[in-house]
Amino acid sequence: MKSLRQELWLETPNRRDFINITPKVEECLQKSGIKEGLCLVNAMHITASVFINDDESGLHHDFEIWLEKLAPHAPTSQYRHNGYEDNADGHLKRQIMGREVVVAISNGKLDFGPWEQIFYGEFDGKRKKRVLVKIIGE
Ligand code: ZN
Repeated sequence: MKSLRQELWLETPNRRDFINITPKVEECLQKSGIKEGLCLVNAMHITASVFINDDESGLHHDFEIWLEKLAPHAPTSQYRHNGYEDNADGHLKRQIMGREVVVAISNGKLDFGPWEQIFYGEFDGKRKKRVLVKIIGE
């Protein structure tokens, strides 16, 4: 069995952002030389997500509005976590949007359904964070 472990570093200029990391994951897959297997992609930070959905700006706007309704950033005084930090909403948003995705690898490609793309969701940005890519197979 072959395997590859790689960390992707990201730093968003905004507090919250969605970044399509599919090309970076595809680069990892090329580097691994694996044709059949599984690819795990996970956020290594508890205020960031990795998820799969459509690369469509209207939808990303809808996610932002929906997440702010569920867990508004302000006022931070509404959260107990904010006794020492101001990112409670980031933890809650991450929980909804998920930690990781697993994608099948078939014929040396990420075996996506229609319109599926891999996104990094940042909920407490403006600092460097990591995503782990682990690929196993033959
Ligand atoms: Zn925190």
